[in-house]
Amino acid sequence: MGSHKANDAVSQRIQAMTDRANDMKARGVYFYNMPVTEVYDDATVLVNGRRMGMYASYGYLGLLGHPRIAAAAKAAIDKYGTGTNGVRTLAGTLDLHNELEETIADFKHAEAAVTYTSGYATNLSVISTLMGRGDWVLSDKLNHASIVDGCMMSGALFRRFKHNDMADLEKRLQQAPSDVSKLVIADAVFSMDGDIIDLPKMVELCQKYDAWLMMDEAHSVGVLGKTGRGIEEHFDMFGTVDIKMGTLSKTIPSVGGYVAGKKDMIDYLRHASRAYIFSAALPPAQAAAAMESFKVILDEPWRIEKLWKNTHQFLGGLKDAGFDTLYSETAVVPIMCGDDERAYELTAACQAKDLFMLPVVSPAVPSGLARLRSTITAAHETKDIAYALDVIAEAGKEIGII
Ligand SMILES: *Cc1c(COP(=O)(O)O)cnc(C)c1O
Repeated sequence: MGSHKANDAVSQRIQAMTDRANDMKARGVYFYNMPVTEVYDDATVLVNGRRMGMYASYGYLGLLGHPRIAAAAKAAIDKYGTGTNGVRTLAGTLDLHNELEETIADFKHAEAAVTYTSGYATNLSVISTLMGRGDWVLSDKLNHASIVDGCMMSGALFRRFKHNDMADLEKRLQQAPSDVSKLVIADAVFSMDGDIIDLPKMVELCQKYDAWLMMDEAHSVGVLGKTGRGIEEHFDMFGTVDIKMGTLSKTIPSVGGYVAGKKDMIDYLRHASRAYIFSAALPPAQAAAAMESFKVILDEPWRIEKLWKNTHQFLGGLKDAGFDTLYSETAVVPIMCGDDERAYELTAACQAKDLFMLPVVSPAVPSGLARLRSTITAAHETKDIAYALDVIAEAGKEIGII
């Protein structure tokens, strides 16, 4: 090894994390990075040699392994190979990328769209390109880490408002000088709590205080709206969100991120955002898979209906059993446990009965608010959900959560 001081701050940080992980492993509660060895669909996987019901997937519409999507990816590999020739602006742009962006713009009822190679990179790059020193960014307290990082990287003044609290947002908007550019940003569906942002009030405030509005639709595309178009469709408010961001890695079983909006803004991002200019283009198979997925969502609307039927069964069942699920109203369902230890116990009990569930503990959530962050999809069947509810309720009683 190099000549680092044995006990400097970096070494201490590494040691502290190593100790924490080793302690958890010794107690049999280390659930980090558990490898899945086979994927049957969005509802069933093989883990540690056992077939388990999947309750931690973001594949809300059950599109993973869909024959049309898999075929599109395979055909793209045959036609273009497995990679691109580099970044979009040099040799990396394929007709496939342009078609994907048109498909997304169409799906989102927007003039244009631009894609990036991850949702994380999208938020980081888009927020920091649009906003800068002297501007104000107002972000919901529970927004995703990629939004927080993008806000900090932008150099703009960064203020957080209380979660989904429009009175607090208004207070902060009033604090901003009237001549500065302002951006209000929130998850449409919150990734840990499963509640939906109050878009109507937020739009009203953005108009009143002349602020730009950005929505992160990682958990709302394919989930909200009759045809799965997301938050604007849910509230019947098309055309009210300026910057419509989403990922291609959740409902859409691929990888990548996008932003849709006005053509001038999208062109600006193509010329100025660094993740677009300095990072390789989406691989052909992933671009083709993403494009086909948007078409499948429109061709198979039964998936959205089934997702909501399953959500009501799962969420309703947990509430009836006496669990606290916060304000969740979607397929993201927190099962509150209290302290970290009880979340580990509930996870272990569920996994022993072949439910693949995972805990979220501090510092990812405030201490005392440890939970199982469970998810439900269109791939689950009524009887599987009934079994899961029985297992969770029985374990919850034994552990003393309900
Ligand atoms: C997952 C997620 C992202 C990041 O998307 P990736 O494509 O996984 O990088 C951004 N925002 C939210 C709200 C997310 O849940």
